Amino acid sequence: MLSKVLGLFSSDMAIDLGTANTLVYVYGKGVVLNEPSVVALFNDRGSMVPYAFGNQAKMMLGRTPADIHAIRPLKDGVIADFKAAEEMIKYFINTVHNKRSFFARPRVIVCVPSGSTQVERRAIQEAVESAGAREVYLIEEPMAAAIGANLPVTEPTGSMIVDIGGGTTEVAVISLGGIVYARSIRVGGDTMDEAIISYIRRGHNLLIGESTAEVVKKEIGAACASGGKSHTMEIKGRDLLKGIPKEMSLSEAQVAESLSEPINQIITAVRNVLECSPPELSADIVDRGIVMTGGGALLKNLDKVLSDATGLPVLLAEEPLSCVAFGTGRVLENFDDLKHVLFRQD
Ligand code: ADP
Ligand code: MG
Repeated sequence: MLSKVLGLFSSDMAIDLGTANTLVYVYGKGVVLNEPSVVALFNDRGSMVPYAFGNQAKMMLGRTPADIHAIRPLKDGVIADFKAAEEMIKYFINTVHNKRSFFARPRVIVCVPSGSTQVERRAIQEAVESAGAREVYLIEEPMAAAIGANLPVTEPTGSMIVDIGGGTTEVAVISLGGIVYARSIRVGGDTMDEAIISYIRRGHNLLIGESTAEVVKKEIGAACASGGKSHTMEIKGRDLLKGIPKEMSLSEAQVAESLSEPINQIITAVRNVLECSPPELSADIVDRGIVMTGGGALLKNLDKVLSDATGLPVLLAEEPLSCVAFGTGRVLENFDDLKHVLFRQD
């Protein structure tokens, strides 16, 4: 009862520090912040000073004058720019805090990719500590995703999760509250965007930007062409031969073709994990199927392609973009029951 009352004032939080998006879940409130993991830096006589974060900074990506750089501090699944990442974490925590400055020094749980090194994990932990947290715990992303997707992670049964984020795809088999086997590859939504860019450049001499490629992927992207009447889309970029702006029409089938390589890499990673899983757990996975989370899992027909490639049922989690934040938030709110899935990096 007392803890319920205290919970009303708690500013304990769970952070999904993704390569594409950062979500902050506050105890008793749910997700209160969901913004792109982007920082704009301003060149102030040689030193780079943070200028904008999140949505505001994302709008500047690829559109900045010479003295402003918009960067993604976690671009390849790990912290690529520690200073910018730390500033961004501080900014997001303070944004959430300002509205509830009553109880400062919160307990914070942050997710780390399963493939991150000890040095990278400690860096994330320290960034959150220096942002003013009282106690910081880490959780592996696939574990958080599985809890958020309501998989029975603490039971003696195998669950398989495939989380496709911006920078990485994490594939894991979980049983009895632990990760039995996991694989993380640096292939995700960003790789898909890059594949679309290079396909259009090679095949049509047209250069498009990353933001345009992402829009194409979301609008008409697919893991395999749907058959029937294909969707098309007009795209604009720069003609590489004439150097002037040009427009062309792109079909779903073309985008599917351009995405075949990253899709195959994801399939290979899933197959590897299936091959390396203990047989009892494989049997469970055959029965229960594979669950996909992360924004990349929203790619059209990906469930079908993965199911055909593995012969297993594949399910898309509800609200795939929020699963990791929901799962980490669930651990925060049921701390005593679930704390065995957390750890600290010394
Ligand atoms: P992260 O955890 O790395 O921050 P997210 O789980 O937030 O990543 O997913 C972001 C990725 O999902 C981006 O690459 C984005 O382009 C992609 N994405 C979002 N919606 C869709 C969609 N409808 N189809 C395909 N990809 C999508
Ligand atoms: Mg993620």
